[in-house]
Amino acid sequence: MSAQEHNPGHSLRHHGSHSGGNGQGVAVQVSPGNGGNGMQPMHAPVLVLNASYEPINICAARRAIVLVLKGVAMTEEENGHFLHSARIALRVPSVIRLLEYRRIPHQTRALSRKNILLRDRNTCQYCGDVLPSAELTLDHVVPRSRGGLSSWENLVACCHPCNRQKGNQLVQEAGMKLLREPRAFNLHTSRHIMRLIGRSDAKWRKYLFY
Ligand SMILES: [Zn+2]
Repeated sequence: MSAQEHNPGHSLRHHGSHSGGNGQGVAVQVSPGNGGNGMQPMHAPVLVLNASYEPINICAARRAIVLVLKGVAMTEEENGHFLHSARIALRVPSVIRLLEYRRIPHQTRALSRKNILLRDRNTCQYCGDVLPSAELTLDHVVPRSRGGLSSWENLVACCHPCNRQKGNQLVQEAGMKLLREPRAFNLHTSRHIMRLIGRSDAKWRKYLFY
């Protein structure tokens, strides 16, 4: 998941960027170690922990390495790959931890198509089909023509056939059923997604399941 809106990395970007030279010239070559799972190692998801070990985000390995090189975060777990440059050989992290505690606001994320699809995990909330983003649309549970708002609680991921079938009807009128009640995408939702991803990564598990 791209946890963008509250991505601590975003605000950290200013942190060490005055000199500008720190994270540069790093991504030269990656050699596979024993952690190869077919995924591009520099794009592999890295779990980001707060200084308190609380899981707060997921970022790409490339970003995680920059945070470590800037001294903003430290590696807690490695993913078995190495990153080589002229000057250094670096182990690619699987879990990093911020050195300074960041207050993570418990407010919800920005309402956007991308975040709705992320919340619903690209699953049509009527028929349950899992589809690429391009093949999904957003459905107003209570149609706009009937006063429905564009809100977290009234927007769901929907495939085109279901969207057509529902038309301007309420869910019950269309004889359809929602897989689950749409809710705002908050930290709880984010953690749920982290856990889903973390199931396939043993190194994440101890930070996510407690
Ligand atoms: Zn559908």
